Amino acid sequence: MTNAVLTDVPRASIPLIALPVAALKDWLKKQPKATVAWLEASGFEAKPGRFALVPNAKGGLAFVVTLLSEPASLWDLAALPTALPKAVYRLELFDGVPADRRPRLALGWMLGAERAVTYKKGPRKTVAQLAVGKTIDLTRVGRMARSLLWVRELITTPAADMTPDALAAAVRAVGDKYGASVREIAGDDLLAEGFCGIHAVGRASAYAPRLLDVMWGDPRHPSVVLVGKGVCFDTGGLSLKPGRAMALMKKDMAGAAIALGVARFVMEAGLPLNLRLLLPIVENAIGGNALRVSDVLRMKGGISVEVANTDAEGRLVTAEALAEAVAGKPDLVVDFTTLGPGRALFGDAMAALFCNDDALAARVQALGVLAEDPLWRMPLAAAYEGLLDSPMADMTNAPEAPYAQAITAALFLQRFVGKKTPWIHLDFMAWNIAARPGRPVGGEATALRAVVRLLEGMASSAT
Ligand SMILES: [Zn+2]
Repeated sequence: MTNAVLTDVPRASIPLIALPVAALKDWLKKQPKATVAWLEASGFEAKPGRFALVPNAKGGLAFVVTLLSEPASLWDLAALPTALPKAVYRLELFDGVPADRRPRLALGWMLGAERAVTYKKGPRKTVAQLAVGKTIDLTRVGRMARSLLWVRELITTPAADMTPDALAAAVRAVGDKYGASVREIAGDDLLAEGFCGIHAVGRASAYAPRLLDVMWGDPRHPSVVLVGKGVCFDTGGLSLKPGRAMALMKKDMAGAAIALGVARFVMEAGLPLNLRLLLPIVENAIGGNALRVSDVLRMKGGISVEVANTDAEGRLVTAEALAEAVAGKPDLVVDFTTLGPGRALFGDAMAALFCNDDALAARVQALGVLAEDPLWRMPLAAAYEGLLDSPMADMTNAPEAPYAQAITAALFLQRFVGKKTPWIHLDFMAWNIAARPGRPVGGEATALRAVVRLLEGMASSAT
């Protein structure tokens, strides 16, 4: 709900005084005794995120005071849109909050104003609005909020409504809007172009498997390929998932949704990049023609893979998109995946990062901290290459030994990437398990803000 934050400041607005915890003492010294007494009597605590409604002499609302983290955090104001009485609040930020920390407060408010994606009827809860005046430029903030919220909606939408057809339609719609060229290789055409893995994983579904290939930008600019795992529903295939393990599998297309969200941001911003998006989009279903355990796939990229587990399908479809990505010798490839071991390592609040370039890894990890979108680097440990051995093929898709699974998944992908192309592999949950301010239960655009910052950096060094 990006209109929860306004540039124009109405005269009737209520001051929202936002100051770091450390500045509270000095601020209190300048307040009338009655205000100090009120804050004490109402149990106002000196902790980030706390707020108090302060009355005037007539019993009306004089102002609201709230406390910020140091440095100011994206989430500091995120609880307020639904916690405050409906009104317009004009932001009166403490002078010491650095200019580059201010936009995130507006973004947090926008995200906090948004309700969870649900099919429930009934009017939306009205939310409080924030007027920021000229203190914050909302152009980038609004663009970021739109991308994040759209990605969350794509992920959270049930698989019956977010079929491979529907997700592909969303890709085409965005591509058309920004003048990108969109190619869709679907069904048996995948076999003709060598994408046997994508075909094998998705062929038992009522919806054709496909690879979406979107190109946008100017070939003279730095070239980036974004790859995203788009498994619209993952039953596990014939290696069927047991009961509860299938509960969240509508989110197994989150990698594709997040890659698409990053691409949308880049195209909307008109960043000087030569962008390509490669999204394998399938449903991992069961049926008479389903991929079998022990089948051997002759994959794009010329590597044969023995399928030891049809539930390790994400690496099969992602690997083929990566093989296609590096064939064009881009400056950077980033893949976004929900392979499973990423969430086992890091839960829902951060992503596992693998990278074949130390400087690039350090850069994106630092940008993740800056964007409050943390990524943690894991090693592409060659010591575990042997776990991928198969007696029947060049490699197995699911090592028998249940160890170092995030690493072996990354090593599997690395064989399709090679060592020449700078490459980032992200493995995450992409789902908020518990509601927090600005983050309702449901799909989450993990790593989107970090990767957008990385691409903005590439774009600015190009001009
Ligand atoms: Zn799976």
